[in-house]
Amino acid sequence: MLLITCPVTRTDELVADRRIRSVVNHPTHIALHVECPCGSVHVYRTGRRWAARRPAAAARPAPELTPA
Ligand SMILES: [Zn+2]
Repeated sequence: MLLITCPVTRTDELVADRRIRSVVNHPTHIALHVECPCGSVHVYRTGRRWAARRPAAAARPAPELTPA
């Protein structure tokens, strides 16, 4: 599962791994193309180097995925 923030509806969406259409490796990051519940495909950047540059963004999904 993957937690994304939809740029269209501005809500957090929990999507299944099979909704990931493609993963593209770039020198500075990994681009995930995710099929969103809103009907669009959004691109999200992830990866160690990207996380190092954007610590807040990288840390974000973990607490929300933890069951209360
Ligand atoms: Zn969306």
